[in-house]
Amino acid sequence: MRSFSSTPATTPWRRSARLRRIPLAWSRLGFSVKLAAIIAVAGVLIAIIPLSLASRDNRIQSTLRAADKAGIVANLIAGQQASLGSFAQGMSEELAAPLSAADDTTLKATLVRYSQVNSASDVVGVTGPLAAVAARGASVVAANDPLVVALSGDLGGRAGVVEGSAHTLWLLAVATVAGTHERAFIARPVDGAFLRALDGTIATTADPARIAVLRGDTIVAAGSAILDQSLAIGTGVSVAVSAVPAADGSAAVVDVGGREAGVDVRSLGSGFAVLVSTPVSEVSTLWQPLVILLGLIVVAMALIVLVVQTDLQRPLRRLDRAVAALPREEYDIPVPRVANDEIGRLASSFEEMRRQLRATIRATRARAAIATELNSPQQLPAALREVCTQLQASSDADSAFIVVEASDVMESFVVSAGSRLDVDAAAVLREEGPLGTAHRHRGPDALVLGAAPQSTEGRAGWRDVCVAPLRMGSDVLGVLGLTRADGGFTAGDVSLVSTSAEQVTLALERQRFIALVQRQASIDDLTGLHNHRFLIDHLGRQVALAERLNTPLALLVIDLDQFKRVNDTFGHPVGDSVLSAFASTLTKSIRRADLAARYGGEEFIVIMANTNAVDARRVAEKIRAAAEAMTVPIDADRSASITVSVGGAAYPEDTVSPAELLAIADSALYDAKHGGRNRVCMAGDDDALEAPSNVTSVVRPRRSAK
Ligand code: GH3
Ligand code: MG
Ligand code: MG
Repeated sequence: MRSFSSTPATTPWRRSARLRRIPLAWSRLGFSVKLAAIIAVAGVLIAIIPLSLASRDNRIQSTLRAADKAGIVANLIAGQQASLGSFAQGMSEELAAPLSAADDTTLKATLVRYSQVNSASDVVGVTGPLAAVAARGASVVAANDPLVVALSGDLGGRAGVVEGSAHTLWLLAVATVAGTHERAFIARPVDGAFLRALDGTIATTADPARIAVLRGDTIVAAGSAILDQSLAIGTGVSVAVSAVPAADGSAAVVDVGGREAGVDVRSLGSGFAVLVSTPVSEVSTLWQPLVILLGLIVVAMALIVLVVQTDLQRPLRRLDRAVAALPREEYDIPVPRVANDEIGRLASSFEEMRRQLRATIRATRARAAIATELNSPQQLPAALREVCTQLQASSDADSAFIVVEASDVMESFVVSAGSRLDVDAAAVLREEGPLGTAHRHRGPDALVLGAAPQSTEGRAGWRDVCVAPLRMGSDVLGVLGLTRADGGFTAGDVSLVSTSAEQVTLALERQRFIALVQRQASIDDLTGLHNHRFLIDHLGRQVALAERLNTPLALLVIDLDQFKRVNDTFGHPVGDSVLSAFASTLTKSIRRADLAARYGGEEFIVIMANTNAVDARRVAEKIRAAAEAMTVPIDADRSASITVSVGGAAYPEDTVSPAELLAIADSALYDAKHGGRNRVCMAGDDDALEAPSNVTSVVRPRRSAK
């Protein structure tokens, strides 16, 4: 059976999910952070090229220097070898005489003198069949000294670098003493001091180098640490170093103890070699300009971030705040004016858009609010005052006003919000000021006008006015507008005033229509008096009021005598004129507080509040007399005249019921007719009053026609 491993399945999915989150995280970073990151990456990439160039250059430089210095060191050693050879030659010539004479004292004295010429560590000596003596510093060294034995061993083919006793290294020069088989030699220790002296001639602090001597790949002498790594005598150098062949131009960069160095090795002969190392890192070539370049990149980065912060990010943040306010319906936060660049232009376009949006929204709200106010059941002036309040608030104007002219259904009036306007509405609309101008304006739009200081509006403190007529067809019902001390009306203000004027005009017209309909429903067309329906309502209300106030009330029923004859004689139209003429005579015969109505046909009724039967009779008589005195011209020669009969009843004397009051008065009228017409009969009268002689409607010659 085969088993399946389940572990690796989740890993690639997780990695791809993490990878997907990288763009998300990047998009959430702030703009300046992103920019700084991009600049940093770009800076590093830009710096890598000169950096790699510099490091390549450094490596080449260090190998060249190592090769140069190795050459110099090899030459210096060869030079020392040559001078030691001359020294040995000179010494051998002087040693010839004492050796030949077997003068041991002179021999030793000569060697001691020679041993003091150079450094105290040099060993000089002579060895052969005649003598074996050596000296070091100021003293003679025993011939069986291990060092002397080692150095003076087989001197036949030995010269150059040799090994002494105890692994010491020497530079050896040999000369044959003339006339003998003796050999004179001088040996100089190739030790730390020797190499440090060489080091001093080839290296400086700014251009360091280290020297060591190798046999094979083992260090046999070292002047100082190579690349800060102390190398003890006898330790092996790295494989890389040992691989550097001892030939000219063979220098290479190798790793010495973890640091790179240019290394060159020169053979000293006899299996020995001198190694010179120059560290790559300490070679100062392109590093200084590179550091300056990096510094400049950092400074440029900081400057760019600063500019982005001040010129781009901060204005964008402020813009962002203003934009973010719009979804919260906060249209009053102005977009700040930022710089004069692209962002500045974007900001001012946005500010313009915000203003228009605010104006549109305010106007829309104002229109809706105005429509609500105008449709509310409140009285029209109160509704118009609210309209003014809405207009002023939504436009931020100093004040809003509506002036309504007097019409057949309402008095003129002025309403305003903000600063009060105390003017005579009728007068101001006739003047030459802004309101009068707008009232006479024929065009469709609102006007923006200045108020002259001496005008009524100017004296009220107004400066600039945006005003529209309340126009219904050819009629102008008044004006509506806004005022501002600082002018500056916008297109939105003009539009708001125009549309509000239309709304208010419709409301005024509706009000006028309702008033007309109401009046038509209660007024008799022919006579202009109240009609039957209104009369019945009014009688009921007046009786109830009299009852509550405990006051009397009288009612008169008036019927034109023999009216049929008027129609028959002059025709119906003349009859109508007579009825109309009597109605106005009747109106003039009663008080303003009394009500005259046409009950039907040629019958009229008068209701008199706070009037008893006695007073009612007096009024009835006045009416009768006035009717009798009335003449209605018919044509050039003729005129019609009438008489009336009147029946009266009083509350509460006769009855407390409105219907009965009417019936009792009608009954009294009947009495008056039967009593002979052209007379007044009150309820409860026993006899009809004496009838005036002239009873009926007749044709009388007009006085003017006599
Ligand atoms: P009296 O009341 O004195 O008894 O006589 P009369 O002729 O006035 O009596 P009647 O009530 O019979 O006639 C009323 C007349 O009034 C009938 C009608 O021709 C006339 N009349 C009623 N209404 C109108 C109206 O609106 N216009 C005109 N021209 N005549 C009307
Ligand atoms: Mg009648
Ligand atoms: Mg009549």
